[in-house]
Amino acid sequence: MQDKLNLMIPGPTPVPEKVLQAVGKHPIGHRSKEFQAIVKRTSEQLKWLHQTKNEVLTITGSGTAAMEAAIINTLSRGDKVLCGDNGKFGERWVKVAKAFGLEVEVIKAKWGLPLNSEDFEKVLRQDVNKQIKAVILTHSETSTGVINDLQTISKHVRAHGSAITIVDCVTSLGACSVPMDEWGLDVVASGSQKGYMIPPGLSFIAMSNRAWEAQARSNLPKFYLDLDLYRKTAKKNSNPFTPAVNLYFGLEAALEMMQEEGLTSIFKRHARHRAATQAGMKAIGLPLFAPEENGSPAITAVATKDIDAEILRKNVKENFDILLAGGQDHLKGKIFRVGHLGFVCDRDVLTAIAAIEATLQSLNLLDNEMGAGIAAASKMLQ
Ligand SMILES: *Cc1c(COP(=O)(O)O)cnc(C)c1O
Repeated sequence: MQDKLNLMIPGPTPVPEKVLQAVGKHPIGHRSKEFQAIVKRTSEQLKWLHQTKNEVLTITGSGTAAMEAAIINTLSRGDKVLCGDNGKFGERWVKVAKAFGLEVEVIKAKWGLPLNSEDFEKVLRQDVNKQIKAVILTHSETSTGVINDLQTISKHVRAHGSAITIVDCVTSLGACSVPMDEWGLDVVASGSQKGYMIPPGLSFIAMSNRAWEAQARSNLPKFYLDLDLYRKTAKKNSNPFTPAVNLYFGLEAALEMMQEEGLTSIFKRHARHRAATQAGMKAIGLPLFAPEENGSPAITAVATKDIDAEILRKNVKENFDILLAGGQDHLKGKIFRVGHLGFVCDRDVLTAIAAIEATLQSLNLLDNEMGAGIAAASKMLQ
């Protein structure tokens, strides 16, 4: 049915009517007083979301732009970095770091499992000559639905004394608490089409004082993503280049909605939706891909048993207009992922579970009684 598609993927996520209307306004000049007021307001709102006193800069570009900016603004040619890799986005960090000639040591965990914080502790403790300049990881690994123990890993980095912590919080920010200052995070990267509830096109980067000190020493090539320019212009409530003006309208509206709901309520809602999705899938008889206790608040990855996950996804989309995410790389066909990130309510979660259940029933692949998934999920929502 036209205009009925429900995005249950981890980005782009659904956009509220209020935000769509804001984005749909006529653009204004990006050097105007009116626009400066929006930059000022959103930068305050962004600090609130990041639970930080640090400046949060806005870049016109997708989430990966903020990831690249993090690397090229804080590191120098030949620097050694320690990268956590337990999925597609951990892999991306390794690729970006290598693209800029950094020496990368990788700590891996199997896809579907969290990174082991003790592995980081061990390598950092052995680095007595302080060769490691940064520890780089993904908080919520979207490809496998795993949340990594960022708080503990960040503690180990602090104990090292000189390395900074660079984190992809693209699907954790706005889904669970990421208190930048309290956890001592140095660089936090995120993107608009995820927990922010706005269309793709903006990314965000917050940097601690330690990160800015590293920035002053950094010698990797940069131009469009030179954060020094962004910081200088941000002081005047402006941007170095023409930003996505209309997305800024949406950003202001979305952050206002988030402030009305409150951080605690937002995080509780995501935790409830994770619990309901996990319970629903288990009751249907579908195994969770990641251990339940390590499940991301943004997305639940589910293994299929007797059916290619791509066929299940196709049926759910065609019959119910609900878009689920597929598995990436070697997981294609083996898992599907239910996004519950951003502008998602109980109804969205219940209907997605019902659609999965009904699809399996229509294919004669439902092991358990029809309705078992919904019963288990709705119990978690009460
Ligand atoms: C979506 C996502 C990104 C950013 O991807 P873009 O396509 O560049 O916006 C980065 N990291 C994670 C974990 C993500 O889920």
